[in-house]
Amino acid sequence: MAGATGAQLEAIPIPDHYRGAYLRKEDVGIFEGIASSAKDPRKSLHLGDVPTPELAPDEVMVAVMASSINFNTVWSSIFEPVSTFGFLEKLGRSGSLWDQRHNQPYHVIGSDGSGVIIRVGASVRNWKVGDKVTIHCNYVDDQDPSAHDDSMMATNQRIWGFETNFGGLADLTVVKANQLMPKPAHLSWEEAAVNALCNSTSYRMLVSKNGAAMKQGDVVLIWGATGGIGGYAVQYVLNGGGIPVGVVSSKEKADLLRDMGCEAVIDRSEMGYKFWKDETTQDESEWRRFGKDIRSLVGEDPDIVFEHPGRSTMGASVYVAKKGGLIMTCAATSGYMIEYDNRHLWMKLKTIKSSHFANYREAFEANRLISKGMIQPVISKTYPLEEVGAACYSVHRNEHEGKIGVLTLSPSENLGIDNLEMRERIGENKIGRFRR
Ligand code: NDP
Repeated sequence: MAGATGAQLEAIPIPDHYRGAYLRKEDVGIFEGIASSAKDPRKSLHLGDVPTPELAPDEVMVAVMASSINFNTVWSSIFEPVSTFGFLEKLGRSGSLWDQRHNQPYHVIGSDGSGVIIRVGASVRNWKVGDKVTIHCNYVDDQDPSAHDDSMMATNQRIWGFETNFGGLADLTVVKANQLMPKPAHLSWEEAAVNALCNSTSYRMLVSKNGAAMKQGDVVLIWGATGGIGGYAVQYVLNGGGIPVGVVSSKEKADLLRDMGCEAVIDRSEMGYKFWKDETTQDESEWRRFGKDIRSLVGEDPDIVFEHPGRSTMGASVYVAKKGGLIMTCAATSGYMIEYDNRHLWMKLKTIKSSHFANYREAFEANRLISKGMIQPVISKTYPLEEVGAACYSVHRNEHEGKIGVLTLSPSENLGIDNLEMRERIGENKIGRFRR
């Protein structure tokens, strides 16, 4: 597949079904009454054949060589905070026949992928059969005027494989042509597959004018600094001349962070912060202790806080940001009903700004930095598609570092590398830093 010419690929008939990791509508209630942490994706994620969808004129069909686990895969598989079937029903109701395809009793999930284009729709101009691509997850109807300033603002903006069907954790996918980016030639399929969602998110949050537009010398506090988005955030701060302060939860992760070049490291497990005294009361003295620890490392308060844990940390994040500082948030892993002390926000003229994935341009620029070897993939482990439930479970349990890759059509790891010379120039120790 990967070495075939366009003509050879065109000659291969498309099967009427394909293998994918999917959720079933009939399973939506299976975790009712169970605590979030005990909900097990291995029970809800199924692997099997689903019908191949028809290709819309603005879409391409991709033979997926590898994909990855994102946190939205976890949310989807435990049906939290809502079941994704509601998204599919809404998309199905939105009118066009192409949209109606998505509303099925099964949901093939997955919001990342690398692979080879095997069919192009009639109106696709910039891509052809045989092109090797990575796929970003911003699913936008470009005939909608609201998509033409910043497409993340489009009224019908959706995340592929989460709010749409036919996601990347499968042997085939159909995606819009405006989701495609060239596959970085020096990376294997799985190394190329793990980046788009998290890397583009961190790029928008820190580099883009739609986010923090970080400048040289900025101190940036990064929660989960060896996690999916955190692992890229650290690299953006270092590349941009900023000063990262990385927070992690183990000695191993602290060592990894130092190895990445982040000198200011806080192991939150070792420090034992208790920002919440109980379910409803926060402890300002713990925020202060955390702030002092940051100052003791870098001598000043953070200009920017890269925030995503949400309820557990937001009070502390608002408190420790510098006067006039920015709290850049894109998520709420530990809970979305947020509490912080507003006096610390307004009296110190701080700003909370939100971000969500990235527009095509931002995703393309972030992909370009990977292709140039200026940002490294943060892949730590790869699972075969048969073990997608276990892969998802490990992310849900926070047992992983960086990103988890999933092999779909690629029969083993380390395949698909086209530019060995560039790889040698960058160094395996850098590209494989998270695979320890
Ligand atoms: P990961 O699980 O890979 O990393 C998150 C890290 O955050 C964890 O490894 C952990 O690191 C840290 N963390 C988790 N809970 C807490 C807590 N209660 N207090 C402090 N730190 C915590 O996930 P991702 O990086 O892929 O995603 C992070 C969040 O961002 C998710 O909620 C995800 O859904 C969201 N997201 C949003 C996007 C968007 O476009 N809006 C895009 C991508 C992700 P450690 O234990 O080492 O401290």
